[in-house]
Amino acid sequence: MAPPAVVDLIRRKRDDQRLDSPEIDFLVGGYARDEIPDEQIAAFLMAVYWRGLDAGELRDLTASIIASGERLDLSGLSRPTVDKHSTGGVGDKVSLILAPLVASCGAAVPQLSGRGLGHTGGTLDKLESVPGFRAALSNGEIMHVLEEVGCVICAAGAGLAPADRKLYALRDVTGTVESIPLIASSIMSKKIAEGTSSLVLDVKVGTGAFMTDLGRARQLAETMVQLGEEHGVRTSALLTRMDEPLGLAAGNALEVVESIATLHGSGPPDLVEVTLALADEMLSLAGIVDDPAAHLVDGTAYGCFVRMLEAQGASGDWIPPRATSITTLSAPASGYLQRLDALAVGLAAWRLGAGRAKMGDPVSATAGVLCLAKPGDEVTLGQPLLELHTDDPGRLDAARDALGDAIGIGPEPPDRAPLVIDVIRQ
Ligand code: URA
Repeated sequence: MAPPAVVDLIRRKRDDQRLDSPEIDFLVGGYARDEIPDEQIAAFLMAVYWRGLDAGELRDLTASIIASGERLDLSGLSRPTVDKHSTGGVGDKVSLILAPLVASCGAAVPQLSGRGLGHTGGTLDKLESVPGFRAALSNGEIMHVLEEVGCVICAAGAGLAPADRKLYALRDVTGTVESIPLIASSIMSKKIAEGTSSLVLDVKVGTGAFMTDLGRARQLAETMVQLGEEHGVRTSALLTRMDEPLGLAAGNALEVVESIATLHGSGPPDLVEVTLALADEMLSLAGIVDDPAAHLVDGTAYGCFVRMLEAQGASGDWIPPRATSITTLSAPASGYLQRLDALAVGLAAWRLGAGRAKMGDPVSATAGVLCLAKPGDEVTLGQPLLELHTDDPGRLDAARDALGDAIGIGPEPPDRAPLVIDVIRQ
């Protein structure tokens, strides 16, 4: 049978008709092999943006993206595999703590991660502030570290879901990123291709998150949970708040330092709460009964972290680098800190050098923002509230501008909503 004309498939989606599995595979496979040009796939993506995809089309799109590359086979490991994916937030260093924590309870955690873009930092960028750390591992090395240590945090290789890389780059320049089916298939194709048996999603909601609206975040979470289950991955999702930075640190080395403190049992309460909620869910999906909170204080989770660093070329005896310029911002009034806006803090950290504007840009290990108080704390006029860390003082004005309206102080303590809003399971 002659292949369908691409333009006919675009017209059908434009006119809100459904496409079948071979038709979707023809588009995705053809694009991945450079047989279909950007302009036709751009038109198709815009049609999907407006018309959406039904559950069958979404399953097929995800399957085609996965089939454009390899799917890792982790079935030879002696431990159950379980991973976590976060939609990204300011100060979200949870993966650095969670992977060794869940490994210390007996699971294998294959964290194949990306680098940061924009105001949320990437897990690999954080770990690369530790000298010697190698993020690029072969599949054989991934299996070895998982078997020996129980967790690996490394770059997702070019062989996993290569169609997503092309599609995502095209969405970025065609105004089609903000589509729930396109986001869900993009995230889930990479996680399913990674070969994990179970997956917990941390879908963040709030000013510092990709999703600022709870209804849309819930819809994204439900869509991803369904996609995971349809592809044989036990999947659940936590909806968690991201209106203020998670923990106190936003910036690469600053976040590694805070992660190590948390692995020693002295993490900030909000970071510990989200990490333990995710750990409990991961262990439940992996069928492991254990008390992760105990492993944060008995040294076993920290031990896993150090063994992972060593297996990936770094040393546990790490002396954190410090920025050459540290400036404090002080409380403009006395009262209770009611608001510390996550987006503003993330933008400030980015402008200080912690994040990149485009893929391939370097990031600073030392740059970032350290919060000296969090919403709910009582503060006095002139008390230092934020530390701005950078090696390039020329960046300070732009960071201060980002923080212009970030802080709210009032006479009453703020209402504290729970951090974990809901858990979505199928
Ligand atoms: N992250 C992804 O990997 N894909 C998206 O589409 C959005 C966020």
